[in-house]
Amino acid sequence: IEERFDAIVVGAGMSGNAAALTLAKRGLKVLQIERGEYAGSKNVQGAILYADMLEKLVPNFREDAPLERHLVEQRFWIMDNKSHTGLHYRSEDFNEERPNRYTIIRSQFDRWFSSKVREAGAIVLCETTVTELVKDAYGKVIGVITDRQDGEVHADVVVLAEGVNGLLGTRADLRERPKPDNVALAVKEMHFLPRETIEARFNIKGDEGVVIEAAGTISAGMTGMGFVYANKESVSLGIGCLVSDFQKTGETPYDLLERFKNHPSVAPLLEGSEVKEYAAHLIPEGGYNAIPNLYGDGWVVVGDAAQLNNAMHREGSNLAMTSGRLAAEAIFQVKSRRDPMTKENLELYKKMLDDSFVIKDLKKYKDMPALLHTQSQNFFLTYPQLVSKALQNFVRVDGTPKKEKEKTTLKQWVAARSWTGLFGDAFRFARAWR
Ligand code: FAD
Repeated sequence: IEERFDAIVVGAGMSGNAAALTLAKRGLKVLQIERGEYAGSKNVQGAILYADMLEKLVPNFREDAPLERHLVEQRFWIMDNKSHTGLHYRSEDFNEERPNRYTIIRSQFDRWFSSKVREAGAIVLCETTVTELVKDAYGKVIGVITDRQDGEVHADVVVLAEGVNGLLGTRADLRERPKPDNVALAVKEMHFLPRETIEARFNIKGDEGVVIEAAGTISAGMTGMGFVYANKESVSLGIGCLVSDFQKTGETPYDLLERFKNHPSVAPLLEGSEVKEYAAHLIPEGGYNAIPNLYGDGWVVVGDAAQLNNAMHREGSNLAMTSGRLAAEAIFQVKSRRDPMTKENLELYKKMLDDSFVIKDLKKYKDMPALLHTQSQNFFLTYPQLVSKALQNFVRVDGTPKKEKEKTTLKQWVAARSWTGLFGDAFRFARAWR
């Protein structure tokens, strides 16, 4: 390709599409390169879509985006091997005109998102892999090399939206490779069921949706979580744990998924379903302390490639869309001032990101990943078992006086963690949460 572009965006996931769309809408000449057969063909998500962040990019997206169900209920489950303790929040308020969260299927959604990018005027090149970044004699990124013949293309700035692995950035020495204790490996299955079966099992009607986030003994003492999300005619189910924990324990993601779907609280939701899709993907979970350099001479990095993922709230796609949009806004501002795309000028992107919920939220939880990782046996095994025993003791009516029941529960907690351990854990958790 001989042409020169204002910007090249590598990747057509949530962050890449947000960046390419914003740049193209602002009238910049944009080339977006995606290695998959089509946008979304390589991408994996649970998937909850957060409407607010998409609305900032495509205000009328509800008219034609492939949405599954709008969420009216969110369930949080703490699980042991036979039980779950649930906190469920359901509200009629979520049956609003412009719902706040939806389930989606990424392969369909990304395709639609990409069509908006094309409509805005960007050139979208699929089935093309960027193999290297091109730098000038001063180390400034000036373009990319692709796996196509004569595939070197130049631009004023390259937006790296290449996802969690970030191979290009690593290869070009712009960042380190994500460490195994900063990324989770997640596996996901799609279970197909008739629409009315899903609605009966999840207690919903029409396009209402329910999601379940689950933690506890299902991750076998490793730092990780599971999820069950209701789509229109399928249920997405998955589980993920830190890569370093898999290395240490020898557990396999597939075994965890098998155990999760056979759990007595989960199995009835899936009974009789047909599994049609299976996928595995990494999730950046290192939080604030794992964020690499976000900009440099001729480049910015966005989304999962920048490790922008809030594991505590299971948010990733919204951070990806927001970082992609803000990077594009910053590039546009630099371009409008006719300034060069230098590190000094692109710092604007970092400033905008620092002012947004993205960095504020990640900063808030900055100590949480390390705490959950070092205390994973306690938080994912010991406490879920104690909670379950306590609740069972509380609800079971067997003639034991209530005072004795309370003493038994207290003894169990102190025997498992000691008083110092209990207070220490509560203090550490509260401090990491604040
Ligand atoms: P991606 O979506 O990974 O896109 C990167 C793109 O770059 C891909 O299309 C890839 O093919 C392309 N690419 C990579 N390298 C090259 C190259 N060299 N050349 C050309 N193209 C390249 N987030 C939520 O908000 N809600 C959820 O419910 C949720 N659930 C999740 C469940 C699972 C199992 C997983 C794995 C993640 C989940 N996430 C969720 C996180 C969310 O999926 C990510 O945060 C989001 O997809 C990040 O978008 P991205 O554009 O940065 O990266």
